[in-house]
Amino acid sequence: MSSSQHPLPRRKSVGVRIGAVLVGGGAPIIVQSMTNTDTADAAATATQIRQLAAAGSELVRITVNTEEAAAEVARIRDRLEASGCRVPIIGDFHYNGHLLLTRYPDCAEALAKYRINPGNVGFGRKKDSQFSTMIEKAIEYRKPVRIGVNWGSLDQELATQLMDDNAKRADPLSADAVMQEALIISALQSAARAEELGLPRDRIILSCKVSGVQKLISVYRDLAARCDYALHLGLTEAGMGSKGIVASTAALGVLLQEGIGDTIRISLTPEPGGERTREVVVAQEILQTMGLRSFTPLVTACPGCGRTTSTVFQELADNIQAYVRSQMPIWREQYAGVEDMTLAVMGCVVNGPGESKHADIGISLPGTGEAPSAPVFVDGKKVTTLRGENIAGEFRKIVDDYVEKTYQRRSDKTGA
Ligand code: SF4
Repeated sequence: MSSSQHPLPRRKSVGVRIGAVLVGGGAPIIVQSMTNTDTADAAATATQIRQLAAAGSELVRITVNTEEAAAEVARIRDRLEASGCRVPIIGDFHYNGHLLLTRYPDCAEALAKYRINPGNVGFGRKKDSQFSTMIEKAIEYRKPVRIGVNWGSLDQELATQLMDDNAKRADPLSADAVMQEALIISALQSAARAEELGLPRDRIILSCKVSGVQKLISVYRDLAARCDYALHLGLTEAGMGSKGIVASTAALGVLLQEGIGDTIRISLTPEPGGERTREVVVAQEILQTMGLRSFTPLVTACPGCGRTTSTVFQELADNIQAYVRSQMPIWREQYAGVEDMTLAVMGCVVNGPGESKHADIGISLPGTGEAPSAPVFVDGKKVTTLRGENIAGEFRKIVDDYVEKTYQRRSDKTGA
């Protein structure tokens, strides 16, 4: 399957161009991420953006929370361009975005999109004027915006008003239902106001993030049915490690299966010392394992059981997955379609040869009591048997040769 094909019917949405990236309008579902560096530290932020982009993030958001941060945005953009990194950068604004976008025109220009949280733009009469200023800056600099509602910072005036209205009803809704309505109304009313101010519909993306799986599914089903804006999807504050991954996958899996969502972000809390790029890998793996896009060859591996007496096959599976992931920044540029390659690393003869034959390249390692040899299958046929200490190295070489032989060089395609 090519990386641009979608096997599932998708909700129709208005396409929004963010730099060279199209979100919605039938485009492939876009992976985005967010830095956790201090934006005022241009070197550290540019480095992390580069890492996220190299991992496959197609859009990267940075916080723009202070004058010092706003002052560095254009320099971050320059550093990235100097190193050949063209990933669009999105500015995340809260409370003072109207001031920063006005005082730092080079920041307003360098960003490819502004994220505005309608619950955090100001209070009372200031709310509309500060929101309007940000939209006017988006119009002036021809930038799209994401109106990103979050239940942790929901517009309290709106929530209170809806709660009061609900209390007067003969059949009041539950507090949860009113909160859900408040999230959606906040997004839709803000989008309508942005359009009224002159921001075209094809420059507006919406999101309504909550941290509960069932609630997120319910909110997005409702939001998707009530508008045709492109939707950014994500479970906010998903959490750490397996909990964050599982919760995000459970929520996004249901919505993506229903065709809802044009761009996704996985809000993982990194483990101490952990890689920020993990959120990109998880987002890609959700889309790829669902058959929605292909990014990196994935390794099918058996879980292991009492038939395996060593960790050899676990190490090989890990080694190969890490190897192909590390090669992808190069392969992606050189070989068309390499992201669709499938690999299998299996622990014994029970399912090993069968699963290996179904993959483009598969290896079946010896289980307990089996001969110390590892048959390798390429395109369903056994091509060799590996033995000895360097099975991992020899298997990587087979993978390299297969890539070189099977996938057309992009330079051949373009005639360059
Ligand atoms: S392939 Fe072999 S080692 Fe792997 S889970 Fe199945 S029986 Fe166990």
